[in-house]
Amino acid sequence: MSESPPPTQSVRLPTLDQLRRRTLFKRLDEITLSRTPDYIALSQLSQVSVQTLSRDASETIKKKDILFVVGPDTKRGPEPHHAQTYWKVYVNAIYLGVSQEHVDWYHEIFLYCDYLYGKRDFGAVRLHRPEIKAEFIERLGETELVMSDVPGIIHGSTVEDKCELYRFESHRVNEPDIPPGSWYYRYELTHLSDKSKGDNDIVHGKIKDLQETLCECGKTYSPDSERQIFCKHCRRWLHVDCCDVYGPRFEDSEPTLAQQLASAPRTRGVVEDAEPNDWNIAGSGRNLNKYARWVERNPGEEEEEAEKYFVDKFGWAFYNAVLTDLKLEEVRCPRCSTVL
Ligand SMILES: [Zn+2]
Ligand SMILES: [Zn+2]
Repeated sequence: MSESPPPTQSVRLPTLDQLRRRTLFKRLDEITLSRTPDYIALSQLSQVSVQTLSRDASETIKKKDILFVVGPDTKRGPEPHHAQTYWKVYVNAIYLGVSQEHVDWYHEIFLYCDYLYGKRDFGAVRLHRPEIKAEFIERLGETELVMSDVPGIIHGSTVEDKCELYRFESHRVNEPDIPPGSWYYRYELTHLSDKSKGDNDIVHGKIKDLQETLCECGKTYSPDSERQIFCKHCRRWLHVDCCDVYGPRFEDSEPTLAQQLASAPRTRGVVEDAEPNDWNIAGSGRNLNKYARWVERNPGEEEEEAEKYFVDKFGWAFYNAVLTDLKLEEVRCPRCSTVL
C-alpha cells in the first residue's frame, strides 16, 4: 500500500515496541492518545483473525472474547498451555491501526481490553477494603479470574490463545456446572480512579457485590479447599463449619430413599481425597433441585425406579457424593436457625 488511508480518528498510538516494553499492562489513560500531525488512522473492526502464538494457527478474535496474552515479563513454559503464567484480557474493541514507514503503510491490530486478575496477578491491586485483601486472594480458586474494568491496550501480536471462561454466580443455588480445571469468574473488580497517586502500577479497586457472597464469618468461599451448605431461607451459602450442629439426619422418621435424596443438603466444594467433579465448584443444588421436582411429579414411584432415575440422570459419582452428604450431621443456619 502506498496511498494514504482516510483517517477515522486522529490519535497517536504507541509503537509495538513501546507496547511490549512499557504499556502492555498499564492503564489506557497512561498511554498518550493525543492529536498530532503524524497520526495513525484507526478504524474499528467487529472481528479479526490473528496468528496465535501457542498453536501457531490463526484464530478469529471478536469483542467479548477472553484472551491469554504474553506480557513483557511472561516466562513461557515448555507446555504450550502453561496458561497460569499468561495475562488474561476481555476484548472490548478491536482496532485496525495504520502506520507509515517511508512511503509504505502497514496495518496493525490493537485490542482494547479489560484485565482479568488471577490469584497470582492480584499483587498490583489495592483493594477498597485492604484488610480483606490477603484472605480474599487466598480463597480464590486456582483457575479463578476476577473480571475488571481496568482498561488496557494490547497489540494483536501478543495474543497467546483464546480462553474459555465460565461465569459462576456464586450466591445462587442452581448454577450450571463448571468443569474441573476450567477458567471461571465470580467477582468483578470496579476500578476506582485515583489519579492523585504517583504509583501507576497500582490499581485501586473495589470488589462488586462482595457482601452477597460472604458467609456469616465474613469470609468468602474457597472452592478448592472448603465445603459450603445452602440456606434456602436466607438464600445464602455458609461454610459447613460455621453452622450450628443440630443432630443426625433422618433419626425418627425414615423417609424413602427418593425423599432423602431430594432433600439432601445443597453443598459445594471438593471433598477431601475425592476426584473433583463438574458440580463441585458450583454445588449440588442444580441437580438436586431437578431431582426434587421429579420426585414431586412421581410421588408413588418404586424405590428402585427412583434410584435408577437418579443414577441414570446424574451418574454414580454424584449419587455417591449425595449419599455421603446424607450422613452429614444436620446443621442449623446461624442466622435464621433453619435446619439445613
Ligand atoms: Zn463461614
Ligand atoms: Zn438462614
